[in-house]
Amino acid sequence: MNSYRGRIAPTPTGFLHKGHAKTFKTAENRAKSKNGTLILRIEDIDHQRCKDQYTDAILKDLQWVGIEWQEGPDHGGQFTPYHQSQRIPHFLKTWETLRKKGFIYPCQLSRKDILNASGKKTSNGEILFPNSLRSKDNSNIKSPDSYNWRFNVPENRTIEFIDLNYGKCSYTTGIDFGDFMIWNRDNIPSYELAVVTDDIAMKITEVVRGADLLISTARQILIYEALNQPVPAFYHCDLVTNEHGEKLAKQAKSESLSELRKQGVDPQSLF
Ligand code: GLU
Repeated sequence: MNSYRGRIAPTPTGFLHKGHAKTFKTAENRAKSKNGTLILRIEDIDHQRCKDQYTDAILKDLQWVGIEWQEGPDHGGQFTPYHQSQRIPHFLKTWETLRKKGFIYPCQLSRKDILNASGKKTSNGEILFPNSLRSKDNSNIKSPDSYNWRFNVPENRTIEFIDLNYGKCSYTTGIDFGDFMIWNRDNIPSYELAVVTDDIAMKITEVVRGADLLISTARQILIYEALNQPVPAFYHCDLVTNEHGEKLAKQAKSESLSELRKQGVDPQSLF
């Protein structure tokens, strides 16, 4: 029996572009070459930023590009995608486990407080959350809302993994990232929490995604460890740039797959 399970996981906060087509085609090809199963998961937990119009466009674009998946919540003839917005109870369970084990803590500080206390930036220019601002006590809090919850990242730890495209990757806590978000005060689970929860629940064996998420992989490995779960394999795809060498943006309608589809471009020419 073949146990390869992969997924494609778009976030409907904008239109898909050629970079998505490349990543999703790579995911599909890798699943096919291993006779495996591919899942489509719409990562729409951020109800303030995700829009139905983008989800609709994603589904049309995937069909246009010819990407097929083999599983979904309705096991009928055509597989509907999983939607993270319908899976909040799963994310709450992970929050609860991490809270009980003492891996996360609530934080009421504003961005300004953090900036004032830290002054330090990570290797990619983000504000580094200072360890001096951690609060240890989470014992009386029974629900995540109204707080920002952060993961208590171990100090001076180097997290290494072998990426199947990039080879050995290595990130050091306190330099590349600090205590990261797990749940935000608007009652939205973080990307890191939701993606790990779902990759575990959906028994994903290999994660294929864009290289902009390599650093997230290091954070996610800490969550897998905290939950005592096996870490999947990773394949990060090179990012696609425009003719000026800039990263493609979901907000640029002109660069979107939807636009190319409407112009009658042959989708095979993208590859
Ligand atoms: N939803 C993420 C995105 O659209 C990708 C998540 C993942 O593949 O882990 O950037």
